[in-house]
Amino acid sequence: MEILRIAFEEEKLKITLRMAEPFNTRDKPHLARGLFRLLPRLKKHRCFNDGNLSFQREAAATEIAHLMEHLVLELQAVTLCGRGIRGVTYWNWREEPMGQFHVDVDAPHTAVALGAVWLAQRIIRAVDERCPERIDVEQELRVLRRLAQLPSEALPRVGIENFARWEEDWVRQVAELLATAPDPSLVGVPG
Ligand SMILES: [Zn+2]
Repeated sequence: MEILRIAFEEEKLKITLRMAEPFNTRDKPHLARGLFRLLPRLKKHRCFNDGNLSFQREAAATEIAHLMEHLVLELQAVTLCGRGIRGVTYWNWREEPMGQFHVDVDAPHTAVALGAVWLAQRIIRAVDERCPERIDVEQELRVLRRLAQLPSEALPRVGIENFARWEEDWVRQVAELLATAPDPSLVGVPG
């Protein structure tokens, strides 16, 4: 899975993905299973799909891009204490190359949304490669929660045209942002 670009549009983040085959979780049963193990709350997601299936059942045979959508929603929801964050996954291979997907998600907080996309694609890659232990979810969520303490305008809502280059810079950007932010674990300490 490769992220081609990210655009901001009003309250939304629009992600364009390029997937290699297989596109469906049916052909990668370890993927949804591994994600549910890492983030059990995902099973409880509401999902509006043709068969009216629970997300847990839907995830056994759906586009991997759709899993990515729910992962980005979950990482934002768990960080921002769930604020009814919604998303949608769609594609149009008559007009775009086969394997290109669009994932639109609500993005109430810029840094949290970008951090969630960055983490989601790393989680999917790690689970796909059967190395979920590569991701320390608790530590990653701590970073997202600290980003959530920043004002949303701490990062400009500027689209990303070259994700690989952006990704190289993201860790440094996060370190800089957090260097100026109070550590929430210290909040409430007397004196
Ligand atoms: Zn869904």
